Amino acid sequence: MDLSYESTRGNESGVTASQAVLKGLAEDGGLFMPNQIPKLDKTMKELADLTYQETAYEVMKLFLTDYTEEELKDCINKAYDSKFDTEEIAPLSKADGAYYLELYHGSTIAFKDMALSILPHLMTTAARKNQVHNKIVILTATSGDTGKAAMAGFADVEGTEIIVFYPKDGVSRVQELQMVTQKGANTHVAAIRGNFDDAQTGVKNIFGDKALKEELEKRGCQLSSANSINIGRLVPQIVYYVYAYAKLLANEEIDQGEKINVAVPTGNFGNILAAYLAKQMGVPIGKLICASNENKVLYDFFATGTYDKNREFILTTSPSMDILISSNLERLIYLSAGCDPKENEKLMSQLSREGKYTITDEMKAFLSDFYGGYATEEENRQMIRKVFDDTGYLIDTHTGVAAAVYEKYKKETGDQTKTVIASTASPYKFSGSVLEAIEGRKEEGDEFAVIDRLHQLSGLPIPQAVEEIRTAPIRHNLECGKDEMKELVGSLLA
Ligand SMILES: *Cc1c(COP(=O)(O)O)cnc(C)c1O
Repeated sequence: MDLSYESTRGNESGVTASQAVLKGLAEDGGLFMPNQIPKLDKTMKELADLTYQETAYEVMKLFLTDYTEEELKDCINKAYDSKFDTEEIAPLSKADGAYYLELYHGSTIAFKDMALSILPHLMTTAARKNQVHNKIVILTATSGDTGKAAMAGFADVEGTEIIVFYPKDGVSRVQELQMVTQKGANTHVAAIRGNFDDAQTGVKNIFGDKALKEELEKRGCQLSSANSINIGRLVPQIVYYVYAYAKLLANEEIDQGEKINVAVPTGNFGNILAAYLAKQMGVPIGKLICASNENKVLYDFFATGTYDKNREFILTTSPSMDILISSNLERLIYLSAGCDPKENEKLMSQLSREGKYTITDEMKAFLSDFYGGYATEEENRQMIRKVFDDTGYLIDTHTGVAAAVYEKYKKETGDQTKTVIASTASPYKFSGSVLEAIEGRKEEGDEFAVIDRLHQLSGLPIPQAVEEIRTAPIRHNLECGKDEMKELVGSLLA
């Protein structure tokens, strides 16, 4: 049986990989899933000798089956190049009894780069393959990390234009500077007078506007999305789990066939779902430790079988995990329901009507590979400090959540299995909170004074991405009301 994609809500099937990448979301509101999860066709020992790029090909060829070898290798080589500050692309660092898989060596110093540096190439290739001649216009609402990573990925990519909206007072100074200094003639970013939800709602409304769609079609444009429900973001994230296991084997840190656990700081459930798919492909992974911050909707879900978003939204020092609707969880629900779209659809419509749903005992049993945990703000700070004091290794506030949950897991279960912790951002991206954690008090001074102090204390080189924004000229100064987003899109594409 050939691999193709189907909607988790049942109204689309037989979709090719390139069509799924182009569409992003299925028309019935569901997410695309492959109709089977392929097995790796090389042994872990064979994979141990491969580079990141070669590993990427071995994994992605199994999912993106209508891309030719040449197309796929071309996308991979354009994505994972000197934009990353290390040839290893995703290096492992051993510290404090765990292996930190550093996913922040790309151009925007957060793990979103792992997928967003290849998505533009997958998308333009998909457009070519499907005889789409329109310009592809990417619209994205961001709370900070996704917007910059998407702009960096799509900057000057032929046949594309990207427009990002962020909440004017809702992102960190580093995040804002990263966005407003973005180069590329096809990049646009606007601050909206409103919060992240307003930005997201505005973007959704633009997607649903039929008149605008027709008008853009006349101008030779069509809208698409770069957010994490696109299969073109999920598949590239599987690669680094395969690569990490292969490298542990190559470095003789583990024996052939030895199981490892994986701990992932989780928000939208994309990163940890990729680890789960790596396991299904044949990587010897035991437990998947799903780490939440104080927005612990996933912890409660794994503990009780009830997903309930009706609760207070808490702003934490790990903002990229401040999320109450984890979109990618729908894919796991679908699998746990034996790929029954009706069952999945029933739960998802309950979620949108009542804000909650409860899965059956059988579905819950299916999820036994997952361990849900959470860390409070204080536990996170203590963990960042402990790792730094004991080993000199510095982790960011998202990785701190995973490390703290991993500690709790070990205490609770006594499980000593070697563990890979996904390290999702450079500590410099959240300098203020990281410095506060290791010094035990709030730091005075502006963002760059804090960055310099962190450098002085840790000796960790300041990434190029941070040095650049110190002096880079501001290129974008658009601002609009939350009701003016559509007009702005129209005028930018005129
Ligand atoms: C997006 C993000 C996360 C959460 O990843 P999901 O795939 O949404 O679960 C964690 N840490 C950082 C730094 C991020 O940017």
